[in-house]
Amino acid sequence: MPHAPIKESKERFPHPLERGIGVSTPVGGRVGNRTISKNWTIPPSLSVITIIAILKLAMNYETIIGLEVHAQLLTKSKMFCRCSTDYASAPPNTHVCPVCLGMPGVLPTINQQAVEYTVMTALALNCTISEYTRFDRKNYPYPDLMKGYQISQSYAPFGHHGWLSIETNGQKKKVGIDNVHLEEDVAKLVHHTSPGGESYSLVDVNRSGVPLMEIVGEPDLRSPEEARQYLMRLRSILQYLGVSSANMEEGSFRCDANISIRPQGSDDLLAKVEVKNMNSFKAVYRALEYEAERQRKRAAEGKKLVQETRGWVEDRGITVAQRSKEYAHDYRYFPEPDLAPLVLSRNWVEGVRSKLPELPEARRDRLVAEYKLPIYDANLLTSSKAMADYFEDCLKQYKAEPAPAKEIGNWLLGEVSRIMNAKNIDTVGFREKVSPEQLVRLLVLSKKGEVSTATAKSVLGQMFDTAKSADDIIKAQGLGQISDNEAIEKEIMAAIRDNAQAVADYKAGKKQSLKFLVGQVMRATRGRANPGLVNELLEKKLEEE
Ligand SMILES: [Zn+2]
Repeated sequence: MPHAPIKESKERFPHPLERGIGVSTPVGGRVGNRTISKNWTIPPSLSVITIIAILKLAMNYETIIGLEVHAQLLTKSKMFCRCSTDYASAPPNTHVCPVCLGMPGVLPTINQQAVEYTVMTALALNCTISEYTRFDRKNYPYPDLMKGYQISQSYAPFGHHGWLSIETNGQKKKVGIDNVHLEEDVAKLVHHTSPGGESYSLVDVNRSGVPLMEIVGEPDLRSPEEARQYLMRLRSILQYLGVSSANMEEGSFRCDANISIRPQGSDDLLAKVEVKNMNSFKAVYRALEYEAERQRKRAAEGKKLVQETRGWVEDRGITVAQRSKEYAHDYRYFPEPDLAPLVLSRNWVEGVRSKLPELPEARRDRLVAEYKLPIYDANLLTSSKAMADYFEDCLKQYKAEPAPAKEIGNWLLGEVSRIMNAKNIDTVGFREKVSPEQLVRLLVLSKKGEVSTATAKSVLGQMFDTAKSADDIIKAQGLGQISDNEAIEKEIMAAIRDNAQAVADYKAGKKQSLKFLVGQVMRATRGRANPGLVNELLEKKLEEE
């Protein structure tokens, strides 16, 4: 099924000057942190009976997914005040001031760095940058919202109508970006239960007012796998730009998913369901798979699907209904009266564009051209900026001779990735224990034949565990490769003596038996013998026998 073309809906974000500033009628319309684009609209004329009739005619449904991602920006201070954003290990309510506490009479000031990071992101996502932008108030009562409203952007976001390319099963696809806008994070509620069994909640305001960028994707995704690819690509772009740590587990990268089904070939969605509470890429994938299946099942049974917000329950592997979904007018958006509209000069925007760093796709193509890497390897190596940096820093260690790029790539995607998975750490964590210089030293020792490949792998594991150098570990444990003919010959004679059948088979023309005998010698020397030398000497001995 070819994906739907990216909708170019000019009226979704009409220029406020064309409509008159201050008119706050929802257009299109944004629903707070969500967008109800035209694709999502269920025509009022489409009754339940009609839906059921359609279902009976067409039992094949396609899945429609649109993702909304919130990313905390890596600015030093908060969005509208001077409080530090470095609150991760700070005691509760210590990074606060009257502005982020929402005291009456205070005035917000826009953080320029946050605007620049958002525009950088919008440019990297191929968005059009609005010349005229402004902030709006999104009103809703909740204990984590200090002012009773959130300063966000509803009508004139910084960037709009962009796209992001993803690749699934070797097929490239452009996924539309509806808009990229800026808002502020809310406080954190910490839930407790007293010894007497009473539950209560505490508020930590440190997070309140931290710059939060929202990237609203178009409903162009057709499967949980496409959603996963989209999120991974987006995270990678934010990390390359250096605008966010984009760490889902730590909460600096959060994803809400809108998911619906519709009969194949129809434009009408059965019901728009929003899924929340997913704290990892895996959780997003599982939640979307579950939800698509749940909706199909209900539709097939002729049951009604309702527009609602559902929460993912990780340990049960299901989504549960939380509330009926809000509409844009529920938030009573209106222009933020304490902030003047922000006009972005074209010169300034072009200045930001000229400073954009190399992005994942460009870096991948450069690695292929510069180091003759296979595109598959280059794709994996550049999917995280930290991994690509590690790779290129390893190559820099080779000064006089050309660096063995393919071999280093193999080590990073093989043994290094295996250790990272086993220890559940990322490249930054690995690099803290094993520097590119130390890894290259190990590879040089292995290439010179001082340690066998098998030994080098085990040494790498120990380098990670102990933070010791390759030389120290090899010396302390006597792991150096045996390249001394006499010592190897002794083991060869033993192998020949103990494996008469294999020797007889070899002589009868079964060349496979040589491999078996080499294996016996390698085992006897605990993998330390030089395999090339063992092969050569063994063949010679067998000829002499
Ligand atoms: Zn503050």
